[in-house]
Amino acid sequence: MKAPPFEWHRPATLAEAMATLAEVAPLDGRILAGGQSLLPAMALRVARPPHLVDINGIAELGDLRVEDDALRIGALVRHAAFHRPVAPGPLGALMAGVVRHIAHWPIRTRGSFGGSLCHADPASEWPLVAVVLGATMQAVSVRGERLIDASAFLRGPLETALAPDEMLRAVTLPLLPDDARWGFEEVARRAGDFAQAMALVVLRQDALGRIRDARIGIGGVEAVPRRLVAVEALVEGRLPSPALAEEAGRAAAAACDPMEDAPYRRALLRAVISRALAAATMTQALAA
Ligand SMILES: Cc1cc2nc3c(=O)[nH]c(=O)nc-3n(C[C@H](O)[C@H](O)[C@H](O)COP(=O)(O)OP(=O)(O)OC[C@H]3O[C@@H](n4cnc5c(N)ncnc54)[C@H](O)[C@@H]3O)c2cc1C
Repeated sequence: MKAPPFEWHRPATLAEAMATLAEVAPLDGRILAGGQSLLPAMALRVARPPHLVDINGIAELGDLRVEDDALRIGALVRHAAFHRPVAPGPLGALMAGVVRHIAHWPIRTRGSFGGSLCHADPASEWPLVAVVLGATMQAVSVRGERLIDASAFLRGPLETALAPDEMLRAVTLPLLPDDARWGFEEVARRAGDFAQAMALVVLRQDALGRIRDARIGIGGVEAVPRRLVAVEALVEGRLPSPALAEEAGRAAAAACDPMEDAPYRRALLRAVISRALAAATMTQALAA
């Protein structure tokens, strides 16, 4: 199916994009980034924006650099850029590990990091990464700029804190310390499908091997990704083991509030949490 008719605006600068968006936002005008979510939605008539503000000609939105102990990701950086480590240490490796779970290669060459966050699909990988790592979103409009924490930015399925006339300019992720370790696991029906459940674990281990500073997040199960602070507290200071991974999986399953298929999603979550914790600590978990 073809998309319904729309007027195509192609600003060359950020200032021009913000001005055009201010004009068309009251008419349900939208930003067009990689188009990998918006255009299928238009083809299916789920979305009918009469104006699209195409940001693909704005060079600065493709900027990707490390600055002041943080990775700054321009909103239009394509998923495919993360296949090579884009930051030193564990952060670059983590992003490279996660990106291969997003859709298929052709979609990754077009879909953008910022588009994924703005689309706010609960089953998307980057929103989970943003919440667990404490990302900061830079939102801009003709009214000015504001910084929004990832957990406040993501409000619900396909819902963010952006006002209609605001656009995401860039996202900042703090670099991870050199001794940080991570594990990411997801279950999808087929390779490239959206995840039915996923888990990201980031932690450190002290000289005795005990878990420190654990961050444990879930995605694809609830309306928005979030950290499970009770499970983080459960593993803090403990030695990794298959039994601990299993205990953490059970605790996560009990703590979550699935949007649908509750028993099934809980079972998936138990498995991905156990496996992600085991991967982060390199223990052999028996994730049932
Ligand atoms: C077959 C298929 C499989 C997929 N599988 C996965 C998957 O497994 N995991 C996953 O995470 N994603 C998946 N996707 C989605 C893909 O990652 C999209 O690229 C992404 O969700 C949206 O990015 P985009 O750049 O294409 O945004 P677009 O489709 O252009 O825009 C999406 C929405 O975000 C808004 N938007 C975009 N950029 C901005 C901005 N800078 N400021 C304000 N608003 C903005 C748009 O107005 C629109 O409402 C899949 C897509 C397809 C077609």
